[in-house]
Amino acid sequence: MHASTRPSKVVVVGGGIFGVSTAVHLARLGVQTTLINDGALANGASGRSLAWLNSARRRSDAYHRLRLAGIDRYRTLSVKYPDATWLRFDGGLTWDADDADNDIVAVFDYEHDLGYDAQLLAPDQIAKTTPGVDARSVTRQGAIFNPGEGWVDLPSLIGVLAEEFRALGGEIITDAGRATVNVQGGRASGVTTADGADWAADAVLLAAGGEVPAIVALAGQHIGDDTPIALLVRTKPIKHPLKAVLNTPRVAIRPTPDGAFALDSAWSEEEVIKKADGSYEIKLSTLEGLLLEASKVLEGNPKLEIADYGVGPKPIPGDGEPVFGELQAIPGYFVAFSHSGATLGLIAGELLADEIATGRRHPLLASFRPERFVS
Ligand SMILES: Cc1cc2nc3c(=O)[nH]c(=O)nc-3n(C[C@H](O)[C@H](O)[C@H](O)COP(=O)(O)OP(=O)(O)OC[C@H]3O[C@@H](n4cnc5c(N)ncnc54)[C@H](O)[C@@H]3O)c2cc1C
Repeated sequence: MHASTRPSKVVVVGGGIFGVSTAVHLARLGVQTTLINDGALANGASGRSLAWLNSARRRSDAYHRLRLAGIDRYRTLSVKYPDATWLRFDGGLTWDADDADNDIVAVFDYEHDLGYDAQLLAPDQIAKTTPGVDARSVTRQGAIFNPGEGWVDLPSLIGVLAEEFRALGGEIITDAGRATVNVQGGRASGVTTADGADWAADAVLLAAGGEVPAIVALAGQHIGDDTPIALLVRTKPIKHPLKAVLNTPRVAIRPTPDGAFALDSAWSEEEVIKKADGSYEIKLSTLEGLLLEASKVLEGNPKLEIADYGVGPKPIPGDGEPVFGELQAIPGYFVAFSHSGATLGLIAGELLADEIATGRRHPLLASFRPERFVS
């Protein structure tokens, strides 16, 4: 444990869900905090996330426990904002392709044995449980419905948290360009923004999404990185009864606050072309293909139209598990780098703020320490 004294000043780098959530939790604890982002808030992965709140399928026990705590915090939030259009718990429906890898029955047994709320439904049972699905597209092995799952619109949530942060005296600097973390005398001493301004701090949280491994490497630290480039397509609003998040072999779909759908998939992600100048190219056939796949699984097979799309890094650590906490080699230098940041956003911010403010390492994060990448 390094941060044994309460910091008088913390700088958070990153205006995505991890940065903003941790900043507001620090402010609630009375810690003076400045949040710095390169552009507008939510301009990274959090602004183009499917944001399905879940702990579905198989993973380590520790990761499952953390995700359940993550969903629990959203449940509490939904009581505070009962009419929020940006946070819904209408369940999730998952099915697999009709091939040798179809794992639905085994996954159902696994979730059932964990006590994770799950129902195995034959295609013709789905309409009675959740509306808006074309049962003909569901494979004969059936689908798992998880009634406790939901979705969040992260930009809306970030807006709500940022407002509270400012009201508590927190400072938000946007459009600051690429910030760097300063290390002096072997510990984090603050941040320098692109204009050369220095922001001194006793502790720094680096929550820079997919940039985290490259930024800690500047300080000689290694965090394994498996970040792909991802694509999220948003349709125009459409009147349709779908409420649940759908996870299907060719497309994942969730409703949005304005009555549209957000779509992504593994195959469309693989079709993103990264150009030599660092920009991305999306083929029209990829966008149209994703709309078609979505239409096939929706009741009535509606014609969907694109409103816009987002493309860029989807932060994923090298071993797939979250990375949270203080770098043991550099006291005062904390990191947050993970996939499933929608599900984990509230709980990770709460636990990281607690660690930064008190210096006590929280047991729920014990499996997710950055030092596991140090050989
Ligand atoms: C297509 C897609 C689907 C997803 N689906 C789900 C899902 O269903 N469920 C789920 O739980 N999670 C999902 N995720 C993951 C989740 O969205 C991310 O884990 C989460 O948004 C990451 O938040 P973050 O704060 O780490 O990063 P970001 O939101 O990327 O925020 C980091 C911020 O730091 C800024 N930044 C970077 N470098 C610097 C710098 N040097 N100086 C200043 N600012 C900097 C960036 O511009 C950015 O604003 C999905 C993600 C994607 C992309």
